[in-house]
Amino acid sequence: MRVLHEIRPQLDPPDVRHHGLSEVVATLVGSEILRIAAEVRTLRESGRAVCDLTVGDFAPRQFRIPEPLREGIVRALAAGQTHYPPSDGIGDLRRAVQVFYQRALGLDYPLEGILIAGGARPIIWGTYAAVVEPGDRVVYPVPSWNNNHYAHLARAEGIAVPTRPENGFLPTAEEIAPALRGARLLALNSPLNPAGTGFGRAQLEALARLVVEENRRRGPSERPLFLLYDQIYWLLASDHAPHSTPVELVPEVAPYTVLVDGISKAFAATGLRVGWTVGPPYLVARMRDLLGHVGAWAPRPEQHATAEILARPELTAELAGAVRGAVLARLDALHDGLDRLHRDGLPVEVLPVGGGLYLSVRFDLVSRLGSNDAIRKYLLEEAGFAIVPFQAFGLADESGWFRVSVGAVGLDDIAAALPRLRAALAKLR
Ligand code: PMP
Repeated sequence: MRVLHEIRPQLDPPDVRHHGLSEVVATLVGSEILRIAAEVRTLRESGRAVCDLTVGDFAPRQFRIPEPLREGIVRALAAGQTHYPPSDGIGDLRRAVQVFYQRALGLDYPLEGILIAGGARPIIWGTYAAVVEPGDRVVYPVPSWNNNHYAHLARAEGIAVPTRPENGFLPTAEEIAPALRGARLLALNSPLNPAGTGFGRAQLEALARLVVEENRRRGPSERPLFLLYDQIYWLLASDHAPHSTPVELVPEVAPYTVLVDGISKAFAATGLRVGWTVGPPYLVARMRDLLGHVGAWAPRPEQHATAEILARPELTAELAGAVRGAVLARLDALHDGLDRLHRDGLPVEVLPVGGGLYLSVRFDLVSRLGSNDAIRKYLLEEAGFAIVPFQAFGLADESGWFRVSVGAVGLDDIAAALPRLRAALAKLR
């Protein structure tokens, strides 16, 4: 047998500041949601019924990827599609995204403006990395998903702009305008994680105009303000909140706008890792080079399978429509159940269903229980109703608002949880 070298005792970290790790990495904050998810798991393992509305993901027990996607991956694997893809993605997939955007969104971009990556995350990080210098201001509304972390990674100064429940937690142009002077990036997302709401056309158009005006004001020698528009949930938008894009509403914003998209949500395919950006070629080309060095491309079999589907917009609509139907059925059931509790005088309030995987729910219990986290714990322990406070998405107020996410539950789980929730709330009267 080989000599076994005792490495484990040698692994203590260096006794210097941050163990010698870079400042930016040593001070990176881990995911709040994962911490809550661990609590949920412990409770479940103790045998309690838990309706897990915490994770922004799909449980395969509830949502399988579309069968044609699975078959396409298997076929591509069998055909030996296992070598490096081109760093901007395989041509078939980039052309399929191009056609898909023309037909489904009415946007005609050149092929050079389309880049494939391993999900939406590398695209988002790549955008930050491509336009933000250390110390630059990055403006994002709160609550929103992970902009605080990306701003930190980019060593930017994050400017978090609070939004209001009356507006579905989506920012208005009036709220954003004062923050844009001198800013480098405005990061928007619709349908919105965590609120499950989507921009109306007028609201989005006003925001896009702000970006154009700010860039006009700056003149040619000043670095521009960019717009990151994350539309990863757009195929899951409800009919009450039809999706639109800033570039269709204000074409002059296109030179500064990076659209973020992918199959993670629309095809319930978070683990497959196929995302893309559509944007101005001069910027997309540098993101290609950056992400190529990171190796953040999408796996080749998944790219082939995705291309086969996106090249057929009717099939894409059908497959995404099935995911959307199943998601909206769950959101509607929860919305109606929570609204019923509200009408029965219990301290619950819920915003209308707008899409994505999420609903915004308020439990008016801060005065009673002290904090959002105390409410969260109470509902988890008393009712097995597991949710995430908006604090996890950067909102500072202890105002009782929570994200409810439906990708890991069935209609039966929801039906079973609502009476438990009713009893837990009634008990506090
Ligand atoms: N954008 C938003 C708004 C998201 O909620 C998520 C996933 N939680 C992502 C991007 C990341 O998508 P992907 O898994 O494709 O990286």
